[in-house]
Amino acid sequence: MLLSRYLKVFTTAENKEHLLVFSTRSCSKTLIRKEKWDEIERRTLSSENKAALEKAGILVNDREEEKRTVCDTFKELNRRSTSVDIIVVLNLDCNFACKYCYEGAMKGNIYMNEGTAAALIDFIRKRLDHDKRALHLDFYGGEPLLSPDLIRYISTQLNRLTKEDNISCTFGLVTNGSLFNRRTAEELVGMGLKTVKITLDGPANIHNKNRPFRSGAGSFDIILKNIKETCNLVKIAIGGNFEKENYRDFPLLLDRFLDEGLTPEKIAQIKFDTVIKRPERFLLPTDFNEGCMSLDEEWVMEASLFLREEILKRGFYTPGIKPAFCSVESLNSYVANYDGVLYKCPGFLGIEGFEAGDLENGPKNCSLSYGTEIWNNDECLECEYLPLCFGGCRFVKYVRDGKVNLPDCRRKYFDTCLETLVKQDIKYGIKAER
Ligand code: SF4
Ligand code: SF4
Repeated sequence: MLLSRYLKVFTTAENKEHLLVFSTRSCSKTLIRKEKWDEIERRTLSSENKAALEKAGILVNDREEEKRTVCDTFKELNRRSTSVDIIVVLNLDCNFACKYCYEGAMKGNIYMNEGTAAALIDFIRKRLDHDKRALHLDFYGGEPLLSPDLIRYISTQLNRLTKEDNISCTFGLVTNGSLFNRRTAEELVGMGLKTVKITLDGPANIHNKNRPFRSGAGSFDIILKNIKETCNLVKIAIGGNFEKENYRDFPLLLDRFLDEGLTPEKIAQIKFDTVIKRPERFLLPTDFNEGCMSLDEEWVMEASLFLREEILKRGFYTPGIKPAFCSVESLNSYVANYDGVLYKCPGFLGIEGFEAGDLENGPKNCSLSYGTEIWNNDECLECEYLPLCFGGCRFVKYVRDGKVNLPDCRRKYFDTCLETLVKQDIKYGIKAER
């Protein structure tokens, strides 16, 4: 048997006799005695040891076959997928005036109308063919809770539709948190709401400066009150956008949570990401701060590792290292804008050339514009990080270069951060998902 091509080997200060072997493909972490590692390299290992290492993804029979299997990851995921995932932009309106919000001129009194909502239901009905067993829909904005009637209408219709065929139907909400009080939460949970993502940009003084109400008043206290009132009803994930000047203060938010009784079991996850500095031509949803957009600048990597440690050492959960899965590669993931136009990622909403069809006429092939399989090139195919990266983030590439014609290479990021990430996951017993 041969060593997998998707391995990183680290030394550990605590365990000098061992090597820490991380598989970027299976994300397994294995401590191997140094002399055993020599046996592996000399191919003199016993068959019993081989079986365990094969299970961990460290040894393979055929490295070319392994590469082919990795290349087929998305084909296989799409073939086996039994769920439909949709992000729905209900409006472009917001009761906040975030300092980094780039919806700019587009932001305002713009809402999905009833006709488009009905087209959305019809679009979903057509996608739920016989092999689909689950539907998950995330309500997005603007601020989705400014569209309560639309949420009620869409949820009721979809619950009815999926009930007939015994399909699981769940909802998520990406909200600024100011309107998510207990009454609202109880109603939405009754309709199938399972997860809520709320953004807090650090402690009160930073958050209130970055994310005030339109009136200019601070929004931190009301959001904190709402989280306390609702965290036993629904899984709440906290996101936050840090900058070079303020990230060192973000742990104060974690301490505030603990002081307020928001202990780790009450918060499903916490993850902070850097504010992406975008040219003004980008119109981005207010709370689009997906972690997949991390940048490779030195300070961003340092800040991300620092904040991850601060989250973990207080006992909160943050996602573990896991293989990349950009929704651009998924055949069953869509973003439906308020006007019925489809996209593949919320980052591209409203950007000409990235339309992926519409609710009425269905999806269209947009693999060229989105750089599907952009990783299928000589360099990526030889790269040990391929299963964790798959060409990086198309949106980051577009923001940097204005086009998605090449991968957003994450090599520098992985070279710098992976060892620490792996060791953090081991130290705190973190799994990829919770
Ligand atoms: S393009 Fe980037 S932000 Fe969009 S889904 Fe893919 S990885 Fe995430
Ligand atoms: S984009 Fe860079 S890090 Fe990612 S798989 Fe390709 S070569 Fe590796």
